[in-house]
Amino acid sequence: MSKKEMTLNDLFHDTLKDIYFAEKKILAALPKMAKAARSAELRTAFEEHRLQTEDHVQRLDEVFQMIDAKSQAKTCEAIIGIVKESEEVIKDLKDSPALDAGLLAAAQAVEHYEISRYGTLRTWAAQLGLLDAVPLLNQTLEEEKEADKRLTDIAVADINQEAA
Ligand code: ZN
Ligand code: FE
Ligand code: FE
Repeated sequence: MSKKEMTLNDLFHDTLKDIYFAEKKILAALPKMAKAARSAELRTAFEEHRLQTEDHVQRLDEVFQMIDAKSQAKTCEAIIGIVKESEEVIKDLKDSPALDAGLLAAAQAVEHYEISRYGTLRTWAAQLGLLDAVPLLNQTLEEEKEADKRLTDIAVADINQEAA
């Protein structure tokens, strides 16, 4: 029996499962990063982004519904690796003034992964005519970009200076 060819529809569905897995993983990681952060500003940024991440999961639930699929996660090795690196930062820099700089770098790697995924999903949704999904994916994309920018601002303002 020959394997059925994968379509853009299948790819969209698969990538939706990938980012669903990633968002759940991030939901679990952010409280640990918040707890580890030395600066109150960074801690607050992590806590607030955790709340946003709950919305991200909910929007994905809606997109799954739009394609008549149940919400489902598919293991994403990329986010597992990125989150593992953040755990190493917490462990290795526990008592270092550079801890927050490391946490910032790790968190930005997470945001960049998400930005890449949501950018792709939004484009594919438009190509597939899933016009109700486009604004939902776009809203999350914008929130990930804002989160990334906020981290950059915090890094530039003080944390990297304190580390040095
Ligand atoms: Zn997210
Ligand atoms: Fe992935
Ligand atoms: Fe995010």
